[in-house]
Amino acid sequence: MSATLILKPGKERPLLRRHPWIFAGGIARVSGKPAPGDTVRIESADGRFLGWAAFSPASSIRARLWSVDEAAQIDEAWIGQRIAAAIGRRAALARDSDALRLIFGEGDGLPGLVVDRYGDQLVMQLMATGVERWRDAIAAALREATGLADLYERSDASAREREGLALREGTVSGRTPGSALPVSEHGVKYLVDVPAGHKTGFYIDQRDNRLAVARHAAGRSVLNCFCYTGGFTLAALAGGAASAVSIDSSGPALVRAAEQQTLNGLQAARCEWREADVFESLKQMVASGQRFDLIVLDPPKFAPSLHHVDKAARAYKEINLKAMRLLNPGGLLFTFSCSGAIDVDLFQKIVAGAVFDCGADLQMLRRLQAGEDHPMLMTHPEGEYLKGLLLARL
Ligand code: SAH
Repeated sequence: MSATLILKPGKERPLLRRHPWIFAGGIARVSGKPAPGDTVRIESADGRFLGWAAFSPASSIRARLWSVDEAAQIDEAWIGQRIAAAIGRRAALARDSDALRLIFGEGDGLPGLVVDRYGDQLVMQLMATGVERWRDAIAAALREATGLADLYERSDASAREREGLALREGTVSGRTPGSALPVSEHGVKYLVDVPAGHKTGFYIDQRDNRLAVARHAAGRSVLNCFCYTGGFTLAALAGGAASAVSIDSSGPALVRAAEQQTLNGLQAARCEWREADVFESLKQMVASGQRFDLIVLDPPKFAPSLHHVDKAARAYKEINLKAMRLLNPGGLLFTFSCSGAIDVDLFQKIVAGAVFDCGADLQMLRRLQAGEDHPMLMTHPEGEYLKGLLLARL
């Protein structure tokens, strides 16, 4: 018999709208003694069945929805089917890159699970007790659905601590990936550091936006802020950029960036990898009257939670305002936020605030987002963490 979480009156509404998180504050009582990761039955205050979910006693997200089908049996076979279905949906997307997100958590009905593929290497990240409970079944299903043997685990995200889970990292099966796994995206080669790189090694989510930068880069002078290992810079150089200044505070990331530039044989009249603080550099460049034709702002997550939104908003506004001042007429700004706590509308308002202060006319050419391998469940807007705008200075 599974344990049951009985919700407070009215707290069934988000679940009825298929929002997949059940918060601790909405639970009236727990009947039974579920262990972390156990499948629990969710009932409304008046005893109606609402769904099956994974129990997470340490987290404020106390349970994550598996299914609203009362007949569903959450077991190895069920997990395997969800995994195979998610991977099946990616088949058409594998054309332009060897780096693909195969499973994106809630967006694929597998809360807390991220799986990326780099060539023949799989990398999984388990960030909730539910997927932790089914770890072996997930690993087996991934190998089965892809036919690949090399599986590495990067369950070292801080989200695990909120779930009461220890961090874990290492080879699950097959060969151990090195720190320079070659992948190719839209004709550009990248070296992915699976064990130690950001996320699972690479910002797969920016694939479409790197392509957009490449398409606009011909003949332009480019400034790439928070460049990490240079993804946007390499795309711009491949697209024919005339020059590129790329700034990051991480020396090792810049070493890898330069290595990738050499690997691709990409040249520009001027290409500088600058180890510096972006806030300081922007200030200096504005003061010295520098100008660029294309600027990318892709900073780290300034707002890790709702508590940080005000401070983050000021930081986003500051860098956007400075970047606008550095743009030549006709120049393009690709500006991003990956803070889940700042939604698309708020980000646009912040950037619009910078436009007002700048006093120049800027057009929005389009909104930018993660690629189709990062689907968002329509009932779970929190899944839309990466948002961006492409602006043109008149
Ligand atoms: N745009 C990158 C990903 C950015 S990750 C890509 O497309 O791959 C965020 C990066 O910002 C990290 O590499 C980190 O070293 C850098 N960073 C964080 N704060 C910084 C600061 N104040 N100045 C410069 N770089 C910073």
